[in-house]
Amino acid sequence: DWTDRLALDRAHVWHPFTQMQVHEADPPVPVVGGEGCDLLLANGERVLDGVSSWWTCLHGHGHPRLVSALERQAAKLDHVMFAGFTHEPALELVVRLRPKLPPNLTRAFFSDDGSTAVEVALKMAFQAQLQRGETGRDRFGALRGGYHGDTLGAVGVGELDNFMTGLFRPLLLACERLEVPEDPRREVSPDLAGWPERLEAARQSMAAFFATHGERLAAFIAEPLIQCAGGMRMWPPELLQELRAQCDAFGVYLILDEVATGFGRTGTFLASEQAAVAPDLLCLSKGLTGGTLPLSMTWATEELYGHFWGTPASGRAFLHGHSYTGNPIACAVACASLALFDDEPVLANAAALNEAMTAAFTALTAHPAVRQARVLGTIGACRLVDPATGAAHDTEDRFGWRLHRRALDHGLLVRPMGDCLYLLPPLSTPPARIHEAAETLLGLL
Ligand code: PMP
Repeated sequence: DWTDRLALDRAHVWHPFTQMQVHEADPPVPVVGGEGCDLLLANGERVLDGVSSWWTCLHGHGHPRLVSALERQAAKLDHVMFAGFTHEPALELVVRLRPKLPPNLTRAFFSDDGSTAVEVALKMAFQAQLQRGETGRDRFGALRGGYHGDTLGAVGVGELDNFMTGLFRPLLLACERLEVPEDPRREVSPDLAGWPERLEAARQSMAAFFATHGERLAAFIAEPLIQCAGGMRMWPPELLQELRAQCDAFGVYLILDEVATGFGRTGTFLASEQAAVAPDLLCLSKGLTGGTLPLSMTWATEELYGHFWGTPASGRAFLHGHSYTGNPIACAVACASLALFDDEPVLANAAALNEAMTAAFTALTAHPAVRQARVLGTIGACRLVDPATGAAHDTEDRFGWRLHRRALDHGLLVRPMGDCLYLLPPLSTPPARIHEAAETLLGLL
């Protein structure tokens, strides 16, 4: 019986992304286990982890190879500070990961979460520009409506909504924002009328943006192909290529945030592979350990690293590092997760999941509440509208939250973001479970 423990939770725990009043009325759901693509709830129910527990869990919960890597490493070396020390799991991770990344990325900086991987990239880019003598580059560029984490630097380059960017505006980095259109080719029933013209117009807006701001930008940050927490907005690979070209033309570092899109989530190991674009800085986290432990990396080019080379007196040090940076257990689990990509058909499973997701979202479009269903790799998303009016639901009626609660009662974990409903299950999810999830949602909408 969880009554006492929920009272304890209510009395003392401050949950993330929580509106206190809602939390009081609707306590958190106790979870007691994880098995494959399911979470096991304290009430005995089993639910499909349709959001991969905040998009981390690639191979399902409790994968035996990840569990055993964790246990073995914990028994050998649990932790050591990474300043001035090194260890086998970190080196093995670099060796396993590098061949899967663009070859220009040669230097790995470790941290613990996606927000910090982004902070590190922003700081590296800004400092490298200073050290190149580019002292006028006092701002960043970013896509409109993005999300790159919730530390202050990351919030500054994001634009999630008023409760984040608006509230903290006096504290935020200077950031110029560029709008890109959603890519209609990702929709399950696309309307491509006028698309080539719109794509060309977007290319021209990008060129105009750089003509105006390019010389002031230290770096431009973007999630490749899809703005995930920004509403699963899928944008064209052609524009990512154009972004790379503009950054090159104006001496702006390109930071790709693959915290959410990395590790097969979009069908390829990195999403940016689909545009054949290599960044100057690459941020990885979430799926890096297969969803088991916190870990992140910021990968940099040799050119960028070179700006930090100098004697102590030169002031070129990169003064950043956290207590748990490069934790050996997290690195060992990340190695085990990457080994699965080599030993098991992880990307082939992702391709099967892509087919199931396309079928599921095609089925969902039959419902009058569903608009703009789209799929990229293993990510399926749509807009939910009020079928009576065709408009988005009033946020006060918390439609998405109520849908989340009702779906849980039907064995499915989904969590709409604003008017966007998405499914993004572990890559190992059997396709049949996706068809079931679509049936469940159709029954609940
Ligand atoms: N970047 C992107 C693209 C993300 O989706 C997220 C998390 N949703 C972050 C950064 C921040 O990662 P974390 O929550 O691990 O700090």
